[in-house]
Amino acid sequence: MNQDTICAIATAQGGAIGSIRVSGPDAITITERIFTPVKVGKQLSDKKPYTLTFGHIHNEKEIVDEVLVSLFRAPHSYTGEDSTEITCHGSTYILQQVMQLLIKNGCRMAQPGEYTQRAFLNGKMDLSQAEAVADLIASTSAATHRLAMSQMRGGFSKELADLRGKLLDFTSMIELELDFSEEDVEFADRSALRHLADGIEQVITRLVHSFSVGNAIKNGVPVAIIGETNAGKSTLLNVLLNEDKAIVSDIHGTTRDVIEDTVNIGGITFRFIDTAGIRETNDTIESLGIERTFQKLDQAEIVLWMIDATDAKSQMEELSGKILPRCQNKHLIVVFNKSDLIREEQKKDIISLLSSFSKEDISSIFISARQRSGTDELQQTLIEAAHLPTITQNDVIVTNVRHYEALSRALDAIHRVQNGLDANISGDFLAQDIRECIFHLSDIAGEVTNDMVLQNIFQHFCIGK
Ligand code: GDP
Repeated sequence: MNQDTICAIATAQGGAIGSIRVSGPDAITITERIFTPVKVGKQLSDKKPYTLTFGHIHNEKEIVDEVLVSLFRAPHSYTGEDSTEITCHGSTYILQQVMQLLIKNGCRMAQPGEYTQRAFLNGKMDLSQAEAVADLIASTSAATHRLAMSQMRGGFSKELADLRGKLLDFTSMIELELDFSEEDVEFADRSALRHLADGIEQVITRLVHSFSVGNAIKNGVPVAIIGETNAGKSTLLNVLLNEDKAIVSDIHGTTRDVIEDTVNIGGITFRFIDTAGIRETNDTIESLGIERTFQKLDQAEIVLWMIDATDAKSQMEELSGKILPRCQNKHLIVVFNKSDLIREEQKKDIISLLSSFSKEDISSIFISARQRSGTDELQQTLIEAAHLPTITQNDVIVTNVRHYEALSRALDAIHRVQNGLDANISGDFLAQDIRECIFHLSDIAGEVTNDMVLQNIFQHFCIGK
């Protein structure tokens, strides 16, 4: 149990109303010292939990503000501790005054994420739910919001608990057998065990695979725009980025490590890979170093190959041999730009020329980035290419790299169990791998997670959460 009572401003600057949270064993008595209810009678500490009390915050004789105080008592609060929330006017001066008074009376300023960390340590939520709180605050689209909400409400935690339950059944069967090992009997029917292992493996595999969707929703579908210099790549990128004002590239901390240009098109976040590089480039593709350019291509799910339509033949001849083989498992869209400079009849010739380079159908589109014609259609093509399933709040989809890594390790362990059963290895080896699988799943919920990892997770939260 934490001894310190902490306080923090929980609302952003500039609103009409501000909120300060106080949590810890002395939350109610400290608040009481600086607060007088307007209605004479009960003091704050005599009030029932979940009540609102109207009154004044005062600095000795001087009234600082008229406020509402909400009261929560342990364990029925967000942190699991006694807590108050002081709702005052949103002035920075008032908020700072209230904070100073709380600190003068015994509170300490909260660290980033300390409320949620306390909620986790007091068993109010598991670690994956705590991490979802940060994602919820950072959510920028309907889809990221739905994913974070589902995780916070415990959909993922329940799935993990079910898996751990099954694994524990598995170990108990094997351990029972080990207890009686001298009698040389097999209590645990090997085919039943195999069936159990297969079921567990299927669930973990589904979760591991869901990460590519989860990651695309959370961090954006990676798109690379490639092509020769002067094809119009920067112009197109600017059109795509400027058309939607909800550019989210400047969100620091909470979820994103690398800052890239992201844009929300039709509710889907697209992430343009290493676009800074595109803007700077004024050399030919050769001098850029073809390898470096193509590395971008490897990270992409969608590739926009931009070709200057006035020079289509030579650009296709030059680059198709390098680009097409690298796009086998990607969604390639050939964008013929500068359509304002060619005649309608020329388009057919360009399309048939493109089909001569590949046996498969390649989707292509004519646009004029400068005149912004065809760009709406290109956006529609991008949405279709992203091919993301519709997510509901009940879907369990992995969005967090830490969870993905733990699940991948759990999957390795369960594969060893399956192989061990096939090879008929002894029960104690099987038990070891099952325990390892349980360990990795428990890591996600935070049951075996070490302090360093915890610290790292919570320090990326905002103060006041
Ligand atoms: P990048 O080197 O591929 O990034 O190409 P830029 O976007 O810098 O464009 C090169 C030149 O082509 C610039 O002068 C642009 O204004 C011009 N440009 C880009 N798109 C179009 C277009 O659709 N039509 C015409 N006529 N010019 C364009």
